[in-house]
Amino acid sequence: MEFTAQEKYEFKRLLEDLRSKTGRGTELISLYIPHDKQISDVTSQLREEHGQAANIKSKVTRTNVQSALESAMARLRLIPKAPENGVVLFIGAVDVGGNKTDMYTSALEPPDPIVTYRYHCDSSFLLTPLEDMLAEKKTFGLIVLDRREATIGLLRGKRIEPFKHLTSSVPGKQRKGGQSSHRFQQLRLIAIHDFYKRIGESADNAFLAVDAKDLEGILIGGPSPTKEEFVDGSFLHHELQRKILDALDVSYTDEAGLYELVEAAQDRLQDLELTQEKQVMRRFMKELVNDKGLASYGEREVRHNMSLGAVDTLLISEGLRKTRSTVRCASQNCAYEEVVTRTPTSPPLGPCPKCGGQLAIVHEVDLVSDLSTLSQESGSVVKIISTDFEEGAQLLQAFGGIAAILRYKTSHI
Ligand SMILES: [Zn+2]
Repeated sequence: MEFTAQEKYEFKRLLEDLRSKTGRGTELISLYIPHDKQISDVTSQLREEHGQAANIKSKVTRTNVQSALESAMARLRLIPKAPENGVVLFIGAVDVGGNKTDMYTSALEPPDPIVTYRYHCDSSFLLTPLEDMLAEKKTFGLIVLDRREATIGLLRGKRIEPFKHLTSSVPGKQRKGGQSSHRFQQLRLIAIHDFYKRIGESADNAFLAVDAKDLEGILIGGPSPTKEEFVDGSFLHHELQRKILDALDVSYTDEAGLYELVEAAQDRLQDLELTQEKQVMRRFMKELVNDKGLASYGEREVRHNMSLGAVDTLLISEGLRKTRSTVRCASQNCAYEEVVTRTPTSPPLGPCPKCGGQLAIVHEVDLVSDLSTLSQESGSVVKIISTDFEEGAQLLQAFGGIAAILRYKTSHI
């Protein structure tokens, strides 16, 4: 599934929250149930685990594990059949500080289908399957080659799919007796050229089958000068040839080489992910120094510009940890209400400015979600910017995490 910026942000925050939860011992249960898994089978396994947990030596751990399993079974009774993408359960006694634990239960339908059933019991929740879903779903073509062997594959998100393995009939450098050296070298070059052609054809078959807009680029790996010869010789379809991103040194040319290639290209791949965010931040910085004044920042100013419908692109920092809270007076005869932005370090609410009564928060939303929803209503594009690169970190530190590129100049900049 493709996430919207807001969904992606919310999913990230959810994972962040789950990641922060820990148990005292190995007592946090993560259950990944695919759509076609019988819930009754899962319940039987949990019942068995419950029996086995009786052998746990520590009394506290034993009690915690057993009550987590009981909660899990109770929860499953409410789910007759796993939904389309399956269901994930996180259950266990989480540490809440002060020598106390609290039974935590959460069930969610993931954005992508769960492939493998997993029962996992540890001191933290198992999150990698969900984290992989969050990863970019872009596809890259992979080729590793030398003169003897080549392997072609695809990188989809974080998954490497080998497609074809080829071997050559290129003779070694040592010629057999009786052959003239010149003739031998010529035959050898022809054989190499033919092998490159075969690799190119197989790669065309694999990569052209991928929707062109989904194929982000092609990575080539191998020793020098083989990989350069292959790139320079244009053995790929011209559309694909243009998508070659890099040629990198790898020592294996079998399936292991595909993994080595992806490893070697990590920086490059990460850069690509950030490119879009970098571009939009650069646009903002350019507007900031420009006379036209199409840049705006700070929550108040940006909100005002949004209310005017003047925001073209809204930039929100992923690192923003604020909430938009509706505050109401608790006194019976006072209708005082206001909406304020709060941080986790905001001081406690003061007295009601109207009657001096006690104020209380009656509704609270994450500020990033609040602004995303607002901007959708006013037709602006939302970009949630990570803090993993310089300009992204600057958005949070120098501009309060909220900025906008405007459609036209307003008095609020
Ligand atoms: Zn009041």
